[in-house]
Amino acid sequence: MKDPNIPAYGSLTLISGPCSAESESQLRAAAEFFCRFNRENPRFRVDSLRAGVWKPRSRPGTFEGQGEKALVWMQNIRRDFGLPTITEIASAQHAELCMKYGMDRFWIGARTSANPFLMQEIAESLRGCRFPVYVKNPISPDLSLWTGGMERIEALSGGPVHAIHRGFSLYNSEPFRNAPLWELPVELKRSRPERKIICDPSHIAGKRSLVAGIAQTALDLEMDGLMIEVHPCPENALSDASQQLDFSQFENLMASLVVRRQQGASARIEQIRCMLDEVDDELLQLLAKRMEMVKDLGRLKKQENLSVLQMERWKNVVRRGLDAAARRGLDPGFVQNLLNCIHTEALRLQHDIIDEPEK
Ligand code: PEP
Ligand code: MN
Repeated sequence: MKDPNIPAYGSLTLISGPCSAESESQLRAAAEFFCRFNRENPRFRVDSLRAGVWKPRSRPGTFEGQGEKALVWMQNIRRDFGLPTITEIASAQHAELCMKYGMDRFWIGARTSANPFLMQEIAESLRGCRFPVYVKNPISPDLSLWTGGMERIEALSGGPVHAIHRGFSLYNSEPFRNAPLWELPVELKRSRPERKIICDPSHIAGKRSLVAGIAQTALDLEMDGLMIEVHPCPENALSDASQQLDFSQFENLMASLVVRRQQGASARIEQIRCMLDEVDDELLQLLAKRMEMVKDLGRLKKQENLSVLQMERWKNVVRRGLDAAARRGLDPGFVQNLLNCIHTEALRLQHDIIDEPEK
């Protein structure tokens, strides 16, 4: 029997297609495939065909997109297949050209959403047009830059503005191309639950083999959809060849995805949640007690003219914490992060005390 608590697969927003629009025949092959996929898979529906017309590339001398002529191909695809098409805009001029060729939805890429001036100019060019706009997270993990960009568009275009989570550039984000830092999209969802967040596992992964796992994690974190790069022949792709799926890999991925219930937890789960709330209260009470002691220590350090950071003591705290983690079966990375967080707060409190002017 159909469980009403299981979200309909069809309610997921699915945007898929090649990284770049390379030729009209490439786009036609993809559109034909997605139309067949939609007919044969009532569980899912690819809502729009993606393809980059202008490609923001880190290094010069690589393929930078086919530009305006690709907008004509996208227009033909919409007309011939009835499948909406979507592309990336990185300037007001791109937005205007897209509208000239009848595009009615856009995404803004990670390098553009990091720039408030560009976001404002794009917002001006979309004034009153009410088209859906998807804003990718900026390349750096900065939540207010991401939300700020969306707010600029929302204020002027008046249409729905959705977020795309494509991971963040870090110096080392192994095994991913872009670190997912899931806490950011989760916080975005918590603060604005009505805003759709689509995950782009392809740009997080950077390699085909990681795409499915990231897509499943995104669904398990209640993301509202997926943007997946699919190319008729990924090995020959002119950009992002190593992360694009071919048609059968896309079909396998969709068949493997599990959409889990978002609501309707049992009484036993609710009971455990109450117990967790009590433990959280105790943890916070202990933390408050610890921070009071830290302040006393700060006053003494001031009297005794001792520096706030005492490296030997800090090393000892970490060593003790990691030993306790091993004894209690806690993940050492988690305990290290927790201690870093507590210690940063302790240093902040003690700095405030030491910097306080003498009465
Ligand atoms: C893309 O979607 O092809 C793209 C360039 O994405 P991002 O802005 O996430 O790098
Ligand atoms: Mn790409």
